[in-house]
Amino acid sequence: MEKADTPLEQIRSNIASVCKRAKRSQDEVTLVAVSKRHSAEAILPVLEQGHRDFGENRVQEAQEKWPDLRDRFSDVRLHLVGQLQSNKAEDAAALFDVIHSLDRPSLVKALGKAFDKTGRRVPCFIQVDVGEEEQKGGCPIAGLPDLIAQARDADIPVAGLMCLPPQDIEPAPFFALLDKLARDHGLEGRSMGMSGDYETAVMLGATHVRVGTALFGARD
Ligand SMILES: *Cc1c(COP(=O)(O)O)cnc(C)c1O
Repeated sequence: MEKADTPLEQIRSNIASVCKRAKRSQDEVTLVAVSKRHSAEAILPVLEQGHRDFGENRVQEAQEKWPDLRDRFSDVRLHLVGQLQSNKAEDAAALFDVIHSLDRPSLVKALGKAFDKTGRRVPCFIQVDVGEEEQKGGCPIAGLPDLIAQARDADIPVAGLMCLPPQDIEPAPFFALLDKLARDHGLEGRSMGMSGDYETAVMLGATHVRVGTALFGARD
């Protein structure tokens, strides 16, 4: 009997078929395995299958979980996908390799300072509030040009744009909007798409999809 695909293999193969349809190279798309609220035991099999990009949404949880795992898998790339408080900027700068949630001038200041101090300049995605939902964080679309300029002034590498579209409505128009904003600003990266909609996001230009539930199962 053939062995069933693991969730990781399934997701990779789904991304590959969308890339083929969209005439994109699979190398353009990074699957960020969002392991928030999952234990090291749940993460380990995914590491053992060779996956290296993981996402967490809380600095403290990542500090508790990842140093041990990194001792064994030193080439892990850790992505921060959740809102970041300015007073945690230095910890985040020390731990993460990519930050997906730069969304306001005060955080530009704090991260700029943290990067100066630690000497690590971590690529950052600017989170855009595409659905005009303030509680999710994200920079208002009208504020984007200024925030990009401020980030560049602070020597923060701007990797691209990120969005979390409103729940329970068709996400495609929001992904298309993020793609257009990124193009308008000459930015490569588009961090968009989660378990329910990563294929749509890849079709519409995502370079980073952030997938948790489809890979690890439901969170508590
Ligand atoms: C939790 C989370 C994800 C993953 O969500 P799933 O629906 O479990 O795939 C992606 N992005 C962000 C910002 C998250 O907080």
